[in-house]
Amino acid sequence: MYITEKHEMIRKLVRTFAEKELTNEILDQIEDEGTFPEEILQKMAKAGFFGVKIPQAMGGAGGDHRAYVLVVEEIARVSGVASVYVSSPNSLSGGPLYMDGTEEQKENYLGPIIRGEKKLCFALTEPGAGSDAGSMSSTAVREGEYYILNGRKTFITMAPLSDYAVVYAKTDASKGTRGISAFIVDMTLPGVSCGKAENKMGLKGCATSDIVLENVRIHKSNLLGEEGKGFTNAMKTLDTGRIGVAAQSIGVAQGALDEALRYSKERKQFNRRIADFQAISFMLAEMATKLEAAKLLTYKAAYLMDEKKPASMAASMAKFYASEVCNEICAKALQIHGGYGYIKDYKIERMYRDCRVFTIYEGTSQVQQMVISNQLLKH
Ligand SMILES: Cc1cc2nc3c(=O)[nH]c(=O)nc-3n(C[C@H](O)[C@H](O)[C@H](O)COP(=O)(O)OP(=O)(O)OC[C@H]3O[C@@H](n4cnc5c(N)ncnc54)[C@H](O)[C@@H]3O)c2cc1C
Repeated sequence: MYITEKHEMIRKLVRTFAEKELTNEILDQIEDEGTFPEEILQKMAKAGFFGVKIPQAMGGAGGDHRAYVLVVEEIARVSGVASVYVSSPNSLSGGPLYMDGTEEQKENYLGPIIRGEKKLCFALTEPGAGSDAGSMSSTAVREGEYYILNGRKTFITMAPLSDYAVVYAKTDASKGTRGISAFIVDMTLPGVSCGKAENKMGLKGCATSDIVLENVRIHKSNLLGEEGKGFTNAMKTLDTGRIGVAAQSIGVAQGALDEALRYSKERKQFNRRIADFQAISFMLAEMATKLEAAKLLTYKAAYLMDEKKPASMAASMAKFYASEVCNEICAKALQIHGGYGYIKDYKIERMYRDCRVFTIYEGTSQVQQMVISNQLLKH
């Protein structure tokens, strides 16, 4: 309904790319080594995956939100971690720059990121400020032409791999969230360091760590947007960014359903395919139905964004439902695999771990419920 023929062509192209490049051997290697092959990232950049929604004049692919969702979905269907590398420059890290960057900032920072020459991360969360990000304690004090940044950011995707970070800090502690500003921080500056990469449950191959800021001098030309408007920048980024996690969720869920269907037709017990037991086939029916509903919510949210209509609640509903349902579908797909599902040789074991964070990052399910219920109860 929301997906046109043109979109389906994009889906086909990305699916072909994902199946050709992200082979089982490569995915096993990523899991074992904990790093993602730079060569594949370069191929993704060349294919335009890092700037799907960015206008062609700025070096992007000039696609719409639905095209972005389909790219992330199809990559995630084969590899959850690869989809993180695609969604970040398009949304969480590239989004703040695209939204509020000056022409010069976009040229200097966004261009190289879209082209795959540099990496950027988004640093909002702190050890004491997660869901309540506005209660952050990082500070940025103006000193002549510079701001002096101090603080600690936590759980930052790609931090140890990044050349730059969009960092949020308080420029005026007396103004609450209106005293938060955004900065583009060069990760090689004196005073910037990363904590050790977290030993995560899933999404191996994309390092996540703390960023520590100790008297980091940032030139005022690297203030992103206006002073005091940083929190709005972060919230708007997350608002649209949520369709990215919804897209990851429907992608991984589709991958899990595909695996469950295949396995249930192959595996025989009691002299029959396990797919012939109603307990299994009804599980498959429920998984497929919930996935279809999650897809429609996700495509609808992207469509509303393309039509420039209010999409905040739709994006939260999509992220909330798709991420919860993805976890449910992966759990059921693993159950259908029996003991083999618990073994690393089977893809479902990785999918089950990779998707666990989808109900947590970019706003937990409970935060999405807050956004949705606030809208419902507004009038
Ligand atoms: C792998 C990974 C990658 C990440 N990448 C990034 C990144 O790139 N950049 C970045 O800035 N952050 C990132 N994060 C941080 C992520 O966004 C936060 O973990 C998330 O927002 C939740 O914050 P928290 O972990 O502090 O949990 P808390 O906020 O402490 O929440 C704990 C629990 O309490 C619930 N809760 C909190 N407040 C309420 C409330 N008012 N009502 C009901 N329930 C509530 C939550 O839903 C949750 O279940 C990442 C996290 C992970 C795990």
